[in-house]
Amino acid sequence: MSTPKTLFQKIADREIPAEFVYEDEICFVIRDINPQAPTHLLVIPKRRIPRVGESTPEDAATLGHLLVTAGKIARELQLTEGFRLVINNGPHGGETVPHLHVHLLGGRPLAWPPG
Ligand code: 5GP
Repeated sequence: MSTPKTLFQKIADREIPAEFVYEDEICFVIRDINPQAPTHLLVIPKRRIPRVGESTPEDAATLGHLLVTAGKIARELQLTEGFRLVINNGPHGGETVPHLHVHLLGGRPLAWPPG
């Protein structure tokens, strides 16, 4: 039996609607449904990697692609004052969707340390 699709696989397959900002063969970028900043995007690999803590050397190119894509989108959106990339991992990290994704937050000053 095949593994049930994650929320993000359903979004990638257009089974659940989302606002797409970018898509290529490796990843896609959508607007977060509950934005925490004026710009809050999710950069998501099409092939599911559950979380950074379970990534393997085979995932290196995909993980690199997510960061390069985040940088490209930030430039396109002219986030010239800066932005933040976040990957939550596990319960203490605040992960709620078990399909790795990079949050791209910008458009306002972001506090440090995070909560
Ligand atoms: P996590 O907490 O796993 O790091 O991030 C999951 C993110 O997915 C959250 O920021 C949450 O707001 C977002 N999210 C949850 N459900 C949906 C949805 O159906 N559509 C979109 N666009 N974002 C979602």
